[in-house]
Amino acid sequence: MITFYPGPSKVYEDVEGYLQDAFKSGILQQNHRSKPFMQLLRDTIDLLKQKLTVPAGYHVCFVSSATEAWEVVSQSLVRKQSTHIFNGAFGKKWASYASNIHSVEKVNFGLNEETSLRTFGGDVVCLTHNETSNGTQLADSQIVKLIQQLSSDAIVAVDATSSMAGLALPWQLGDVWFASVQKCFGLPAGMGVMIYSDKALNRAEAIADRKFYNSLLFIHENFSQFQTHYTPNVLGIYLFNRVLQALEPIEIVDAKIKKRAADLYHFFGQFSDYQLLVQNEAVQSATVLAIQSSEEKVQSIKEKALQAGITLGNGYGEFKTNTFRIANFPAINNQEIEVLKRFFLQNSN
Ligand SMILES: *Cc1c(COP(=O)(O)O)cnc(C)c1O
Repeated sequence: MITFYPGPSKVYEDVEGYLQDAFKSGILQQNHRSKPFMQLLRDTIDLLKQKLTVPAGYHVCFVSSATEAWEVVSQSLVRKQSTHIFNGAFGKKWASYASNIHSVEKVNFGLNEETSLRTFGGDVVCLTHNETSNGTQLADSQIVKLIQQLSSDAIVAVDATSSMAGLALPWQLGDVWFASVQKCFGLPAGMGVMIYSDKALNRAEAIADRKFYNSLLFIHENFSQFQTHYTPNVLGIYLFNRVLQALEPIEIVDAKIKKRAADLYHFFGQFSDYQLLVQNEAVQSATVLAIQSSEEKVQSIKEKALQAGITLGNGYGEFKTNTFRIANFPAINNQEIEVLKRFFLQNSN
């Protein structure tokens, strides 16, 4: 079975061997205060910084998911209000979780629109780099335009769950970047990564939130000594380490993903049965494609695909029934893309 689901998504094939290696290595029964674990954590963070070219002045910690990262931002970084600029279901959900904790300002923009700030009341500005639900993405130039309008002490938090490790991210434009590992990292679900700047850390220190087990200051104090704030997912960290070792430098991954995305957009543009949900090329995602059709055609092509051993991603949120999604994540190889194309050529008009 080949899966194009955009999360949980295809796991790198080598993970099968890494699982066995993890067991044999003995790390799974090590105490997380032990030297071998601390060394593993340290290596994994170093590798992540190196492979994803994370600049100096940024720190890395692991949490349980992107959803947890939403909450960490709210608890530890928002003084009074956050501003959420979004066009889809994940950005909306983030705003909704945040609104349970503090006041939020919501700035909605259209599917084919570039973002604009319009109003700005929040001391943290929340962006979704790649909106997995509808296949849109923020170009670096759009983020630049946005942050030019912000006051210098505003913190920019970016949900990059379905683009981190697939695309080279403009780290310096954000203070907090986060993702879960079950998307572009090609790992089984169960961990999240947060990358945060000194500026974010200063804000956390000024707020001095220490109420929660996952207050950023407490997490940071632990991670800066290669410790964790709770018994960690040692297996997840081990697999993460091995996947990172094998990962090509992000510039190379980025170029391949963008080239394959251009090819896929071109490919899906040829059918009268379907249209691209996002028409404006400037905002089309390179890592998640959303393809639109009638409910009947969407249902039927998903079923036929399953029979052919191919899982297409369901639509999400308001596009649940009239779209399907195709992940263009690094763990998916070119042969699988060829199988996908052949299937569509044989089953579509
Ligand atoms: C998948 C996804 C999430 C949620 O990830 P979890 O691992 O379930 O917390 C959040 N934001 C975006 C953009 C996503 O694609």
